[in-house]
Amino acid sequence: MSRAGREVRLASRPHGWPTPENFDLVKVSVPDPGPGQLLVRNVWMSVDPYMRGRMDDRRSYSPPYALGEVLDGGAIGEVVSSETDAFRPGDLVRHGKGWREYAVLDERAAQRVDQTVAPVSAYLGPLSGIGLTAYVGLLDVAALRPGEAVFVSAAAGAVGSLTGQIAKLKGAARVVGSAGSDEKVARLLDLGFDAAFNYRAQPVRRSLKEAAPEGIDVYFDNVGADHLEAAIACMRLNGRVAICGMISQYNATEPVPGPRNLSLAVSKRLTLRGFLLYDHLGRREQFVGEMSEWLRSGQIRYHETVVDGLENAPAAFLGLLRGENFGKMLVRL
Ligand code: NDP
Repeated sequence: MSRAGREVRLASRPHGWPTPENFDLVKVSVPDPGPGQLLVRNVWMSVDPYMRGRMDDRRSYSPPYALGEVLDGGAIGEVVSSETDAFRPGDLVRHGKGWREYAVLDERAAQRVDQTVAPVSAYLGPLSGIGLTAYVGLLDVAALRPGEAVFVSAAAGAVGSLTGQIAKLKGAARVVGSAGSDEKVARLLDLGFDAAFNYRAQPVRRSLKEAAPEGIDVYFDNVGADHLEAAIACMRLNGRVAICGMISQYNATEPVPGPRNLSLAVSKRLTLRGFLLYDHLGRREQFVGEMSEWLRSGQIRYHETVVDGLENAPAAFLGLLRGENFGKMLVRL
């Protein structure tokens, strides 16, 4: 017996900043699961910056969302009915069919959630690709060594807040974060960052110099633009930049100029390296082991900003791009 559910579709493609009109909330009839499939009722879904890129009709590492079609993304669902022995009603699974209330999944597209480590929503946050991104970006791509000084931008966000804490746990001598409000700065200091600044208060370069007067060895870049330029200016010899994201230009309508001081990469022997978490999935087991331990022991704390209801998912996504989140932005269905 099929049931009614709602889903969010891409109504139109944005030019520049997306608006609520780019999304459509639609009532649909949900099919029954076939052999080897399960029906889940989504209880949590993730909104993430990379989804902005998928709203454009442009080739990238993730395919564009199709106009008029339901969006997708990370979600946690509770199994309602199952046509496979692998799952039973009531099981919680992580999967990629967010932006809808009900989803029919192939068995292999569902990953059981082990709720003994942390509350279920953590499987869209610190125990997900978000945490893995922070972990491999810092330890493998930037190759952080104990005693070094680290700068993290968008530090109050999901990836950034974990990156700063992992850096401290791995022996960084000084960890500096930037964020978009004084309130976020205070919360970063509470999380254990040695220094933090509000990037809107004065030029990033000046703030970074004040926060790390002896320079930085590693920059974990979530923002690009003035943050990247400031980091290059403050880098010590043999410094490394892990380029994780450049959120300051995701809504740009024109090509954005690169850092004006890139020539310093020569004299300072800098390494700037972009990365995607998909290339580092081999590190997942090690990461999950360490992160689970850090969460259990309270050595890593994580925050969530929760928006309720599928109808508010577009607002949650737009809010994420504007910086309305501290930690992971999530939608509870
Ligand atoms: P966040 O939770 O960090 O949310 C985005 C944050 O970006 C906002 O909270 C906002 O905080 C900040 N921001 C928005 N616009 C600007 C701007 N113009 N200048 C400075 N800060 C801005 O999101 P995630 O943790 O999910 O993602 C963080 C970064 O990591 C993104 O760039 C994302 O694309 C990237 N990423 C890359 C992956 C990879 O494989 N390479 C995987 C996952 C994420 P504020 O109030 O401080 O402005």
